[in-house]
Amino acid sequence: MSYQFHLTKTQNSSLDKVDFNNIPFGKVFSDHMFMADYINGEWMNFEIKPVAPIPTHPGNMAWHYGQAIFEGMKATRDAEGQALLFRPELHAKRMNASARRMCMPELPEDLFLQAIHTLVDMEKAWIPAQIGSALYIRPFMYATDETIGVKASETFKFVIFVMPVGPYYSQPVNLLAQDTYVRAVVGGVGEAKTAGNYAASLLPATMARKEGYDQVMWLDGVYKKYIQEVGTMNIFFVIGDEVITPNLDGAILAGITRDCILTLLRDKGYKVVERPITIDEVVEADASGRLKEIFGTGTAAVVAPVAKLKYRDTIITLDPNNQKISTLAKDTINGMRNRTIEDKYGWIVPA
Ligand SMILES: *Cc1c(COP(=O)(O)O)cnc(C)c1O
Repeated sequence: MSYQFHLTKTQNSSLDKVDFNNIPFGKVFSDHMFMADYINGEWMNFEIKPVAPIPTHPGNMAWHYGQAIFEGMKATRDAEGQALLFRPELHAKRMNASARRMCMPELPEDLFLQAIHTLVDMEKAWIPAQIGSALYIRPFMYATDETIGVKASETFKFVIFVMPVGPYYSQPVNLLAQDTYVRAVVGGVGEAKTAGNYAASLLPATMARKEGYDQVMWLDGVYKKYIQEVGTMNIFFVIGDEVITPNLDGAILAGITRDCILTLLRDKGYKVVERPITIDEVVEADASGRLKEIFGTGTAAVVAPVAKLKYRDTIITLDPNNQKISTLAKDTINGMRNRTIEDKYGWIVPA
């Protein structure tokens, strides 16, 4: 099925103001955005128009009760300038999984995909050519009923905007394992990509930053010893000859980059396991010399090697220049995204 989008083009593009070699992450927006409304049980009012503030009533339910979900994905380009998407259908499915948990309406996958394709094609001049840079795509949905009183909203807005970004972390990251505050518990909303998970993470993240750490490493909410993930990324450990990542227990966000890396490394013959892993196991592996690498994975950073991990009084340091597996994973994904490395999985989709 093909949907009709109402199109209003900008009269003054800001494209020529962007320095593509030096883009501050998350602060530069392209010219156009996609919008849709959910009213009376139906998605409607599909339009692409200049990026602008969205007027909102003070009683807007999303402000008060937090029905707000999002996705994050990237478009890149190949040497011919063809715009490329990366596993967009998985983002459509995950957005709908988040919607179900937050009592929000699902979007027809073909609508989500058509909106992404149309907007990215329109904004393709905004896709940076530099390796590791990309056009970051942010689809999101929020409640719009103007009602005070806790219940699920009946109306929603779905919006997509895009922004050119450079590499997210250009330096290896330092992590602080947190055993006072928790991000999520099994049965909660940890596996939904919902705004509140981030609100809950800000205080511990700010405390970590004051101590000189980039991100918090979250431990499970019950025993505070099983490693879950870090800020905006899933986490991997190389111990001995094994690559280990925590299994998806319901509190962990099912990262698409995580899935790619599991597939890639298994294919390359590495022993890869998804299982519970405690912070004590990591500390012991380091003490006995078996801890080789730690890296985070997510759309924004792709793969971020960890240089330092602190847990209570223990500080683990790793040589970020000697992380073979994380470098292989990052180069493979970035290479696929520019079509300099073959994609035998069908992950790359022309926009
Ligand atoms: C989005 C996100 C990730 C990474 O998911 P990708 O699909 O790889 O981008 C990891 N953890 C959290 C909490 C996230 O919100």
